[in-house]
Amino acid sequence: MYFLLPFKFIDIDDKEILVNEVGDYLVVERGTAERIVNREIQNDGKLFYDLHANYFISQSRIPKLIDNLATRYRTKKSFLNDFTSLHIFVMTLRCNQNCEYCQASSVVCNESSYDISYEDLDHAINLMYQSPSPSLTMEFQGGEPTLVPEKLEYAIQKSEELNLLYNKRMTYVLCTNSIELNDKILSICKDYQVLISTSLDGPKEIHDVNRNKEGSYDRVVNGIQKAREALGFDRVSALMTTSFLSLDYSKEIVESYIRNGFTNIFIRALNPYGFARENDWDSYFERFIEFYKEVLDYIIEKNKQGVFFIEDFTALIIRKILTPFPIGFVDLQSPAGIINSVIVYNFDGYVYASDESRMLAENGDYTFRLGKISDSYEEIFYGNKAQNISLSWSTESLTGCADCAFQGYCGADPVRNYAIQNDMIGFRPTSHFCFKHKEIIKHIFSLLIHRKDEVLPIFKSWIA
Ligand code: SF4
Repeated sequence: MYFLLPFKFIDIDDKEILVNEVGDYLVVERGTAERIVNREIQNDGKLFYDLHANYFISQSRIPKLIDNLATRYRTKKSFLNDFTSLHIFVMTLRCNQNCEYCQASSVVCNESSYDISYEDLDHAINLMYQSPSPSLTMEFQGGEPTLVPEKLEYAIQKSEELNLLYNKRMTYVLCTNSIELNDKILSICKDYQVLISTSLDGPKEIHDVNRNKEGSYDRVVNGIQKAREALGFDRVSALMTTSFLSLDYSKEIVESYIRNGFTNIFIRALNPYGFARENDWDSYFERFIEFYKEVLDYIIEKNKQGVFFIEDFTALIIRKILTPFPIGFVDLQSPAGIINSVIVYNFDGYVYASDESRMLAENGDYTFRLGKISDSYEEIFYGNKAQNISLSWSTESLTGCADCAFQGYCGADPVRNYAIQNDMIGFRPTSHFCFKHKEIIKHIFSLLIHRKDEVLPIFKSWIA
C-alpha cells in the first residue's frame, strides 16, 4: 500500500517520463504512470524505491521528509524572494540600423522627442532603488542607447550617487548594435564596469541582410573587438535572432560565433512584436525547431571534438532539469518574469511590465502600461494593472500548463498570450510559445534518454 504524491507524466519516444513537484524526473517504461495510480507497484523492487526516494509516492499519508520537499520547492521559487531585479531603461527609440525583424519599432531620425527626459530618468532611478532586491541590473536599451551618451552617463552617475545610500550590488548593461562604440561611450563603460550586450546574427551574408545594410557585420565585429580591448574580453556578449533567412544556416551561424571568439550562443526565435508581426508564424516555428535541433547537434559534435561551446537556452533548461536552483531567465519563470523580475521604464514617460509590453504600446496597445514613471512605487508594482496581470501568470494555474509534465521547466507569458491570442490566459494547443518550449524540452529529454553517456557530461559542463 502506498499513497500518491503529485506528479505529472509524458510519453517521449518509447519511454514515459515522470516528473515530480520539484522537477525531478524518472525515465520509466510506458504505462508505468497507470500502474502507479492503480497501486500495482510492488514494494520490493527498484522501481518502488526510486518512486519513493524521489517523492512520487509515500508510505505514509504525509511523507516523513515533507519538509525536505518543501525546502526544495522554496529553493526553486527563490527568485521571488527579492522581487524585481532587472530594470530596463529605454533611453531612446531612435536607431541607426534598420533590422528586418525589428521588435522595438525603432525610428531612424534625429528628433529628441524620442529620447527619455532627464526628469523621467530621475524618477525611474528612484523607483529602481525602492526594489527590495539587494542586486540590481540597470540595462540600457533602445532604439540605440549609444545615440544619447550624455543621458547614459547621467543615469549611471545618478544611480551611483543613490547607491551610496542603498548599497545595492549594481550591474550595468548596455544593449547596443556596437556600430558607434566611440571613445566617449567606451570610457563611460570602463569607468562604471558596464557590460556590453550586442547583436550578431551569424556570418556577414546573414547579418547584413537582416539589417538591410551592407557593411553592418564588419562594423559590429570591429565594435566587438574595440570593446574587448577597452573593457576586457569577457565583458562583451552577443545575442542572435533567428530570422527566416537564418533557418538554412545552422552550422555557418555557430561557426561565425566560434570564429569571433565566443564560447556560447543563444538560439533565439523571432517574436511577434513590432515590425515582425506580419510573418507566417506557424511555418516559422516548425522550421525553427528543426533549426534548433541542427544547431544543438552541431554544437554537441564540436564539444566532442574538444571545443567548449554552449547553447544557452539548452543550458537553462538543463539547469532546471538537473539542479534545484532557479534561473534568472524571465521566459522560463512561474510566476512570470514580468514585474516579478523585470520592469521597463520607457522613453515615453511610462512604466511597462516587460520589454515586449512596451513594444505592444508602440503599436497603440497599452494593456501592459502600469503607470507613469512619476507615479509611486506602490501604484506601479502593486496597482490594479499589476494585480490583474497576476491572475494569469502562473503555469501552476493555467489551463494546459497545470497538467503539463514540463510545467516546472517552462514559464508563463501573459504578454505573448495576449499579443498573439488576444487573451492573457492563452490557449496552449495553438500557442507558438508552448509549441516551441514543449518541442525543445522533449528533444532535450530524448537526448538524455538515447544518448545519455554522450550528452550528459557535455550538458553538465555547461552548467558547472
Ligand atoms: S507552455 Fe506548454 S510546454 Fe510550457 S508548461 Fe504550458 S503546456 Fe507545458
